[in-house]
Amino acid sequence: MDLLKKKILAEGSVEEGNILKVDSFLNHQLDVAFLNEVGKEFKRLFEDREITKILTLETSGIAIASIAAQYFNVPVVFAKKIATKNLDKATYESDVYSYTKGRTYKIKVSKKYITSDDRILIIDDFLANAQAALGLMDIINKAGATLEGIGIVIEKGFQDGGELLRKQGINLKSLVIVDSLEVGNIKFR
Ligand code: 5GP
Repeated sequence: MDLLKKKILAEGSVEEGNILKVDSFLNHQLDVAFLNEVGKEFKRLFEDREITKILTLETSGIAIASIAAQYFNVPVVFAKKIATKNLDKATYESDVYSYTKGRTYKIKVSKKYITSDDRILIIDDFLANAQAALGLMDIINKAGATLEGIGIVIEKGFQDGGELLRKQGINLKSLVIVDSLEVGNIKFR
């Protein structure tokens, strides 16, 4: 997606530990007009799939999943990372290792919001080692639902996640794949 590449080159910055910071449009401030184009692109890429729900992870996936959901006309469910008192007792759970935080945390989804009838599209902002995606897939599996695809805004092609998921035959589509991240030199596939 050329518009996204331009946006990353103009506004993204490379941080220590191979982290791409896109806080000006995706991870802190939200450029809603731009994210609408991202949402339309996800709709175009998964047009052939019958999707009943979009699943993402709090916090950074919520904005992009919600905007995309308007083009699919389906609800968004976000897995919770933070244990809150008011979360339903009956949940599907999985453990996710976070590369950016360097620790493992639990994600939870109420059993009310994913059922075996659901055909699910996972949407997330980044794909690195696919730990988040695998955790969400585990929850879909536990619910007996069907995974229709995974839509990623920025895939880090120099980490293992993309290959791992494609090897499993998963319908993974990334809007851009970044092959290397150096200060002043971001390379796309
Ligand atoms: P994974 O689970 O695929 O290893 O990592 C994906 C998750 O880590 C994403 O949900 C995202 O929040 C975070 N992440 C991984 N790499 C980056 C990065 O370079 N920049 C930002 N902003 N987040 C990242």
